Amino acid sequence: MNLQETFGSLVFNDAVMRQRLPKETYRALHRTIAEGKSLNPQVASVVANTMKDWAIEKGATHYTHWFQPMTDITAEKHDSFLSPIDGGGAIMEFSGKELVRGEPDASSFPSGGLRATFEARGYTAWDPTSYAFIKDGTLCIPTAFCSYGGQALDKKTPLLRSNEALNQQVRRILRLLGHPDIKKVTSTVGPEQEYFLIDRDLYYQRQDLIYTGRTLFGARPPKGQELDDHYFGNLKPRVAAFMREVDEELWKLGVSAKTEHNEAAPCQHELAPIFTTSNIATDHNQLTMEIMKRVAPKHGFACLLHEKPFAGVNGSGKHNNWSISTDTGLNLLEPGETPAENAQFLLFLVAVIKAVDLHQDLLRISVASAGNDHRLGAGEAPPAIISMFLGDELQAILDAIEHHNAYVAGERTEMNIGVKTLPRIPKDTTDRNRTSPFAFTGNKFEFRSLGSSMSIAEANVVINTIVADVLSEFADQLEAAVDIRATVEQIIVDTITNHKRIIFNGNNYAPAWREEAKRRGLLNLPSTPDALPYLIKEQNVALFERQHVYSREELHSRYEIQLENYCKILSIEAHTMLDMVNQKIIPAIIAYAGEVSASALKRREFLPELKLKPEEKLVRRLSLLLEGIDEKKEALQSSMDALDDSWDHLRRARHFRDQVFESMQALRSLVDEAEMIVDQKLWPFPGYGELLTTK
Ligand code: ADP
Ligand code: MG
Repeated sequence: MNLQETFGSLVFNDAVMRQRLPKETYRALHRTIAEGKSLNPQVASVVANTMKDWAIEKGATHYTHWFQPMTDITAEKHDSFLSPIDGGGAIMEFSGKELVRGEPDASSFPSGGLRATFEARGYTAWDPTSYAFIKDGTLCIPTAFCSYGGQALDKKTPLLRSNEALNQQVRRILRLLGHPDIKKVTSTVGPEQEYFLIDRDLYYQRQDLIYTGRTLFGARPPKGQELDDHYFGNLKPRVAAFMREVDEELWKLGVSAKTEHNEAAPCQHELAPIFTTSNIATDHNQLTMEIMKRVAPKHGFACLLHEKPFAGVNGSGKHNNWSISTDTGLNLLEPGETPAENAQFLLFLVAVIKAVDLHQDLLRISVASAGNDHRLGAGEAPPAIISMFLGDELQAILDAIEHHNAYVAGERTEMNIGVKTLPRIPKDTTDRNRTSPFAFTGNKFEFRSLGSSMSIAEANVVINTIVADVLSEFADQLEAAVDIRATVEQIIVDTITNHKRIIFNGNNYAPAWREEAKRRGLLNLPSTPDALPYLIKEQNVALFERQHVYSREELHSRYEIQLENYCKILSIEAHTMLDMVNQKIIPAIIAYAGEVSASALKRREFLPELKLKPEEKLVRRLSLLLEGIDEKKEALQSSMDALDDSWDHLRRARHFRDQVFESMQALRSLVDEAEMIVDQKLWPFPGYGELLTTK
């Protein structure tokens, strides 16, 4: 394979556009992409026609508007390029109108009441800032998805809006700091994706994996990840072949998958791409998840993206590496070489610190899901408490600035603090504190709380918006300032002083941190139903409206959809559990108890003096477990029956968390006990030991 030829070969990217579009059209489109200028319809027509010819040459027959409704997957509706003409023939057609706008049947996508109140249909609108690509013979056009009233029904629209908010506010600051030349600013993201690969045949023997993505039962294996021999271990040939094919498929789509390695848990792996704009990174991450799921069966695997497929084994997350870049190639979170650059860096740094401190609730909500609730705070992923890690070096610098002290750098040369002579911040001074939810890692922040199956859109919408909001305050102050340098310095000092409680460089997994965080007044929202009500607080509605990211209605609809999703997931899990218990687990225990009793009777017939202690003990234990399981199963059923149609989503979600989930846990623990004593040949599905061993 020729990597250079392969990479992006199925993407209608800048190189293809430059080569194929008339100069004028290319320039107009490029302005739209690079500077966010709006596009005129004639340009769209020319682009559509060129795109179609290119796609047909590459073997495409259909096109689709590719969008991201408020589920965590993407949606497509394929249309053929074919258009009948008089006389029975047909021509291949694709108009500017078809490129720019589509009308998918939107009724089956969640809208949280938005469509009901406004208009039944929705429409998709071309996003020229993310390149079109060919997947399975179909030209896929990245689009936003809105209702006719203009309300966002997807994850891309708010992401684009939040990037625009960030763009405006950062540029206000940069203009004041002497960069009038910068035309466009965008957040950049590199999401590291974790996943499990398990044997496909075993996967299909478990209803829980098929219907819920995670094991609802399973006794712990004798060898889990205690030995730490998996991380960066040798790749099994089958796994290596899978990764190779995923890489190739992604490269064709222009996704720069870069590193692939094993993760902490057995059968767990990670894929990291090279960062790009947050908009494209979000599209690419969706493609990555899709391709991984699709390639896995070819190698005899099922790819699990669930946050917690196996109890007692580390789950999967996503690390969202985030920074801000300018069209001139500056990374605004890169510590500079000169005092002026450093002042600018520190200003953006403290803006993020303030944003995270002020909006812990929104960051927590952006990673909230039923699946992710299993990880956050379980000592394997950052806790539900949001805090930030800066590392010793940067911490020392901030301390010195706060107290107007001289900062003594490593080589012990003394430097003055003050914007004119801020210390040169050494590169790569960051420790790797893996326990922190929000860590500064040299020239970017790494938000580590995302779940592996989630779209990264929400997290980036929140980061972009909250940082933009803080920067708009800074810009207000600076625009009114007489002495800009002095004001920058003042803002930096004040922000550190007022928001340093959010910084915690210690071990976030330690129980003592929970106490300490409470003393500091930091939020701790352990579960999704705890977190979501914060989304619609007045101050958050005001924030999102102020930055033009969500309207009040949009925010409310998202709140309802997320609560509803939470309930749906738990409901499916509870039903799957009941089915498995009724149809498989109880019969297996009965069969085994019967087998043991029958064989005991036979032995006694043969040797009447036998006491049959082991058999008696086993049958008694099995019978008690059977009764316990029956009882817990009834309790789970009752907790489901107790759900009342008149309850609102929040009340339902709380009931699921407090009653249904608790009953599920109680049932599981008895079943797991039974699994350990029932003859393995009779246990109705493969256990953890088998699932977590790749051959
Ligand atoms: P690590 O040692 O944690 O693997 P890397 O430097 O390899 O660190 O980066 C991890 C991820 O962060 C990669 O996806 C990388 O592309 C991304 N990344 C690097 N720089 C930036 C940036 N400026 N903005 C966003 N993401 C970035
Ligand atoms: Mg990382």
